[in-house]
Amino acid sequence: MNRKWVLAERPVGEFDENNFKLVETPIPEPGEGEFLIRNIWLSVDPYMRGRMNAGKSYAKPVEIGAVMEGGTVGEVIRSNHPNFKVGDIVTEQLGWQEYAVSRGELARKIDPSLAPIQTAVGVLGMPGMTAYFGTKEVMGVKEGGTIVVSAASGAVGGLVGQIARIEGAGRIVGIAGGEEKCRYCVDDLGCDESIDYRKFSKDKAAIGAALTAACPDGIDGYFDNVGGWISDAVYPLTNPFGRIAICGMISEYNLTKPEMAPRHTRQILTNRLRVTGFIVTDFWTRWHEGLEIMARWIKQGRIKYREDVIEGIENAPKALLKLFRSENFGKQLVKFGDDPTA
Ligand code: NDP
Repeated sequence: MNRKWVLAERPVGEFDENNFKLVETPIPEPGEGEFLIRNIWLSVDPYMRGRMNAGKSYAKPVEIGAVMEGGTVGEVIRSNHPNFKVGDIVTEQLGWQEYAVSRGELARKIDPSLAPIQTAVGVLGMPGMTAYFGTKEVMGVKEGGTIVVSAASGAVGGLVGQIARIEGAGRIVGIAGGEEKCRYCVDDLGCDESIDYRKFSKDKAAIGAALTAACPDGIDGYFDNVGGWISDAVYPLTNPFGRIAICGMISEYNLTKPEMAPRHTRQILTNRLRVTGFIVTDFWTRWHEGLEIMARWIKQGRIKYREDVIEGIENAPKALLKLFRSENFGKQLVKFGDDPTA
């Protein structure tokens, strides 16, 4: 049987495991021009919270009763397709389920000899490309300048500082939750300083003072993963012609009403800031370029990454909850079954 998680109901505010339902259906049969995949890895990402809501966004919501969306890496186990053979490892967006049939149009073959296959949904996949294009193209890196990144130990944020360093940033400050993550940002990821936002209990002035001390020359680039009060404290510290990449706002995804926030338009005007939101798929046509460069940097030991693995499809909702409770440490993955390439 094929176990799969479907969306049972739309949450209002914070979600929990009851919003999902684990169902079993027969394993599908591939038709002409199709192949059957056994999913091995599921990528768990903050955008999944957005897909649980109805309403207009950049992507369609998951319908009630439909399989939860998600990037996967799996093994072809039956094939009626000329280009995909049994044993091939492929990545596709096949969702929270153990088996799925594909026609191959959106599937990408993975070479297991290059890197562990789950990196295809991590550092060499969507989060990696978000960090790469978001840092290089959207935020941009000023030679010798100061960069601040929030959720700095996470799947995306953990790469941003390292990429910014390679691109010539002079000073990198990471904002993360808790001492252990902050230590990791400095000791392993090469941040010059890290700030534990939890110490400040949402006091914007206090975190602002810590940021001022950590960024004596002001902030030239901010890679925003969290939004909310943390970002409110960053804007006033930006330098003229500073650049802000709005990548995500995880602190706000569970809100039912937007929080009151200061207007930043004055700083945007007087500092001539460039504030740009982006979705990684904006760079879809340049994916190969990002993959090639990131793979090279990993091989050269210039980029480090960390994974957080939960075993078993039954734990997929728990894995998503971890992201919103700051309990993941690195790229959150769920391992459904045996990885024949490991
Ligand atoms: P992470 O691996 O960074 O995990 C999420 C982290 O967010 C948590 O570990 C936690 O880190 C932090 N967090 C959770 N709740 C809060 C909160 N209330 N306040 C502050 N921090 C919080 O996830 P990703 O790297 O996958 O994603 C990071 C961001 O990037 C998200 O906002 C996501 O939506 C966005 N994103 C955007 C993309 C795009 O195309 N624009 C593509 C991919 C991701 P800590 O312990 O430090 O608090």
